Amino acid sequence: MTTTTREQAGKSKDVIKKDGKTFFEFTDRITAFDGMKKDEYPDKGEVCCRLSTYWFEILEKEGIPTHFRAFVPPNVMEVEYLEIIPVEVIWRNFVAGSLLKRYESGEKPLVGIEPRLGARIPEGICEFTTKFEATDRLIDEQEVLDNRWLTREELDMIKESTRRVNNVMSAHLLEKGIILADFKIEFGKNLAGKILLADEVGTPDGCRFWDAGSYDEGRIESLDKDVYRYEKGDLSDAYATIMRRICG
Ligand code: 5GP
Repeated sequence: MTTTTREQAGKSKDVIKKDGKTFFEFTDRITAFDGMKKDEYPDKGEVCCRLSTYWFEILEKEGIPTHFRAFVPPNVMEVEYLEIIPVEVIWRNFVAGSLLKRYESGEKPLVGIEPRLGARIPEGICEFTTKFEATDRLIDEQEVLDNRWLTREELDMIKESTRRVNNVMSAHLLEKGIILADFKIEFGKNLAGKILLADEVGTPDGCRFWDAGSYDEGRIESLDKDVYRYEKGDLSDAYATIMRRICG
């Protein structure tokens, strides 16, 4: 007898467990501003599943271990079962989003960086937010350690992996005329206790992608969820465009 269970994982994916295997179904759901804004867009799930597959395969080849096992077209992925680490990791190459908001509210989160949308952060920065709280809350490394979510060694390993994910994706994208402004990723532990890159990666839901030509002319042209957050155009069109430009 086969048993199948389905539950909602995060806001845009369902997790299906079938015959001892774990699958992610990427749905057309989209939310923003901690779930305050919600919609569905045709083909969004397929775009995010295909892009995650594309990047997981590249990152595995680059020696970054991931939970990706197989692509089940059009919008499902088989993954290795992981216990998710309750910390989300953000990498930023340019000022945008909640970092810009911190500047606007009077904080000085980065020394020596212009408080302006699109200002470059020369060495990049790595930040952490909570995963299982009602809203994603910025936390520092000490809180991660104090809560015993990660050991010092694991935290350093995750930061280094995130830096490598950034280097691999940024280089690929620049060849395609796209700037990776920032992104968020998650990690989990498999049954053997090994830390793997989890969830999704390199999708317009979890990254800010900017057209490089427009940036050089002084404009930010978003090809990501900011189109939805700030009503900059049609999301299905923007997601189709970014998939075509990345995957060819
Ligand atoms: P910010 O903190 O500036 O709003 O977001 C930083 C980066 O994390 C952006 O690329 C944004 O798209 C991504 N991000 C923010 N919240 C989430 C989330 O809940 N899930 C995913 N996958 N990415 C997120």
